[in-house]
Amino acid sequence: MKFKTRLFLFYITGLGLVAVLSAAYFINFEESRVRRTTEENLYIQAKLVAGKVIGEGLNNQPLINAVASEAARDIEARVTIVNAEGNVIGDSAEDPSKMDNHRDRPEIKEALLGELGTDRRLSKTIDRDLIYIAYPIKVGDQIIGVVRLAKDQKELNRFLFRLRLLIILSVLAVALFALFFGVVTIRHFTDPINELQRVAHSFAGGDLAERVRYFGRDELGDLGLAFNSMAQRLAESFAMLGAEKRKLEVILETLSDGILVIDRDLKVILTNTAADLIFGFGGGDVRGRPVMEVVLNHHLLDLIQEVNSSRQPKENELTLYYPRNRQLQVFIAPLKDETGNLTGSVTALRDLSQLRHLERVRQDFVGNVSHELRTPITSVKAMTETLLAGARNDEAMLVRYLNEINNESDRMNNLVNDLLDLAKLDAKVEINREPFDLVELFEEIQEGLALKGEQARDFAVNLPAEPLPQVFANRDRIKQVLINLLDNAFKYTSVEGQIRLSVWLEGNWVKIAVADTGIGIPQSELGRIFERFYRVDKARSRAGGGTGLGLAIVKHIVEGHGGRIEVESSLNKGSVFSFTLPVVKEG
Ligand code: ADP
Repeated sequence: MKFKTRLFLFYITGLGLVAVLSAAYFINFEESRVRRTTEENLYIQAKLVAGKVIGEGLNNQPLINAVASEAARDIEARVTIVNAEGNVIGDSAEDPSKMDNHRDRPEIKEALLGELGTDRRLSKTIDRDLIYIAYPIKVGDQIIGVVRLAKDQKELNRFLFRLRLLIILSVLAVALFALFFGVVTIRHFTDPINELQRVAHSFAGGDLAERVRYFGRDELGDLGLAFNSMAQRLAESFAMLGAEKRKLEVILETLSDGILVIDRDLKVILTNTAADLIFGFGGGDVRGRPVMEVVLNHHLLDLIQEVNSSRQPKENELTLYYPRNRQLQVFIAPLKDETGNLTGSVTALRDLSQLRHLERVRQDFVGNVSHELRTPITSVKAMTETLLAGARNDEAMLVRYLNEINNESDRMNNLVNDLLDLAKLDAKVEINREPFDLVELFEEIQEGLALKGEQARDFAVNLPAEPLPQVFANRDRIKQVLINLLDNAFKYTSVEGQIRLSVWLEGNWVKIAVADTGIGIPQSELGRIFERFYRVDKARSRAGGGTGLGLAIVKHIVEGHGGRIEVESSLNKGSVFSFTLPVVKEG
């Protein structure tokens, strides 16, 4: 039941009780007062009649009867006078001789004992509700008779009825007044409580924008203000917490390290995208699932459990085999609440695979470079030593060795140039692009080849029928790509072979292909030929002045332009290297 209703019921019950009790009390009080006054008046009258009776003497019966009748007219009541034996000797309403002895009437009985007698009853003689009072007629101490007055109560009853009605109406009016004030007062107190309750419910439902709209200068008003400032503070705190949470989420998502948060029962609470990738969760929500089910590596699970029981952070390196081989550096820290109780753990996972791969690549690279340099240096040194040892005196030998030394120096020069090129490409310096005409570039390259005497091979350029749009690229770099590819094609194709440079349009790209009918590349090697220093036939490559870096540089440049390079080859039949370049967008 609502507080207001309860208060109202309580109040109305109290009010009703007070109203009924006070009405009853007043009615009772007033009624007995009125009756007492009536009786007292009647006694006074009776006393006067008694005085008259004593004056006249009881023996003169007609006279007494006359006294009774006269008194009855004045008093407006029936007057009866009886002697000490109870016989009626005078009556204002009936003939005394016909009346029976009145000694046994209760009021007369009392009066004959010397007291004031009273009774109220229905008169059998005249059939009315009457009040009887009897007054003893005393001469000295002796009771010689009784004066009895009988007054019709009709008037009195009517008066009392009106009195009662008046009292009831007054009490009712007061009660209604009190009810009105009560309701107003109850509402005065319960409205702010209802308002507080409404707003408290809104807060509980998460709506902190609600405000208490009661500003009374009392305790409830104070409470309302406290509510409002509490909501304000809460909203601010929530906003702050929300912002912190979002910040943390962004930090977590941008972290390259995988983060896995687990609760005390070893259930996953949170993972970031990096962790999802490492464990292969594949976007499926693993939150709430036991870590044992989702992380399939017992080394890691053991570590997590160790941290859980020791409550000490742990760091280790381990290999994950599923979903793919990864070398991981793992750091696990226990999570504790403010009282120091363990609530879970945070696992940070750094994927070392890439790092390890890079380390290996660097080591390989350094090894390769050293190896590539060592060969020409060793032969230059050997030849120089041979010359110094006396071979210089042999003219033919001297010329041959000097030529060899010159070749080796060229090779070293090529190698250093290619390395410098790669270093520049690795540094990802912005490529300066410009629109240029490919056909012009082809002509330029063709002229260069003619100068070098490469025309001995069957070499041709295939251009499309329609005019080609300009490409948007770094002209010098693309020239380098084409020279590298053509260089290879010439190098790995016999003199009888054919070499074709073709170009055509494919959407927003032009595709350029260098095809030869040379030695070809085994299928198994195709995937590796773009690696640095990778050569299918080392001796042949070196003999042709190759460094093993040409295709690596080509791939680097093409991809730097957003293009793709592909190779198709079959052993002893020939190879086709093709790559794409973006055309200049129109408009
Ligand atoms: P290199 O300086 O040795 O030519 P590249 O990086 O240009 O180095 O090429 C790598 C290897 O790919 C070469 O050693 C060769 O074995 C192979 N290769 C490249 N182009 C061709 C081709 N047109 N035909 C056959 N093999 C080729």
